[in-house]
Amino acid sequence: MAEEKRYDIVIVGGGPGGLCAGLYAARATRKTVCLEKYLPGGQIAITGDVEDYLGFEHIQGAELGMKFAEHAKKFGLEIEMEEVVEVYCEGDDRLARCASGNIYRGKALILSTGGSPVYLNVPGEKEYSGKGVSYCAICDGAFFKEQVIAVVGGGDAAVEEGSFLTRFGSRIYIVHRRDKLRAQKIIQKRAFDNPKIEFIWDSVVESINGDGKRVNHLVLKNVKTAKTSRLEVGAVFVYIGFRPNSDIVRENIERDEGGYVLTDSKMETSIPGIFACGDVRAQLVRQVTNAVGDGTTAAVAAEKRLEGLEDKLAQ
Ligand code: NAP
Repeated sequence: MAEEKRYDIVIVGGGPGGLCAGLYAARATRKTVCLEKYLPGGQIAITGDVEDYLGFEHIQGAELGMKFAEHAKKFGLEIEMEEVVEVYCEGDDRLARCASGNIYRGKALILSTGGSPVYLNVPGEKEYSGKGVSYCAICDGAFFKEQVIAVVGGGDAAVEEGSFLTRFGSRIYIVHRRDKLRAQKIIQKRAFDNPKIEFIWDSVVESINGDGKRVNHLVLKNVKTAKTSRLEVGAVFVYIGFRPNSDIVRENIERDEGGYVLTDSKMETSIPGIFACGDVRAQLVRQVTNAVGDGTTAAVAAEKRLEGLEDKLAQ
């Protein structure tokens, strides 16, 4: 049966930002819950190798995510597997309503909902999703051992996951719509040095095709010459960015043109008592390091709001 549960601080999303906020809030002895619909760790849990998080020269994303969760739980953070469908305000309270019907009520709420993959929106993408079309190399790469694999995109995710996929695929084609990558230079270099990786420049995917059961080829179009070509592949991994999950807030929360939530330096959004951290927040880079920094600030600022409300009550 659906319940209403009261906490001091409610955190929506269990990625690095949310878990770090949870660690700080729980350590400050605030009753804190973190609501996560999938695995603790968020995007990091479905990332292969992580080698740019200070103190960890090399660690699997899933392991790092578990470490974050275990560490926060040690300080008393409660983690519940819940899908939050709406965030809203009632007086000074900030609430999260879940698909289960449960409602989590707090005096502050931290939005750390990250983002979801952007889809190509080409014919065959939906039809072959899970049958050769994937958005997660760590989850699905091993299904395509010794096969030719295409990766679409030119950012950190595409190039890094393209390198990761060389563990499985016989050949990896990275299809990018321009002739210059957006990815960090160190990630680019690793891919350029890898003999299993070949770049297909200035090209977009026109369609994903197969025999009804599995993907077997892509139709590509060169955007400079308008020529189309056929690329035989067993799988295609789409990494063309993601959209922030910022639509669940009932009230009108200020966002930028990309939908990223705007905050002040305390991570507070345009709605007092609702804070944001990590990839859902508008900022220059979206890295684990930023997310944990945001989470720290958000938790401390949330704690200050609670103190302010308590002082007001005591007067
Ligand atoms: P991103 O940096 O936004 O890159 C998206 C890539 O997809 C761009 O190269 C873009 O091309 C291309 N693209 C966008 N729409 C497309 C379309 N419709 N068709 C074809 N190509 C399209 O996204 P991301 O790589 O997912 O990274 C997201 C964030 O996570 C970034 O801030 C990134 O730094 C971070 N991240 C970091 C790491 C790491 O540091 N290890 C790993 C993964 C992700 P254009 O270049 O032409 O715009």
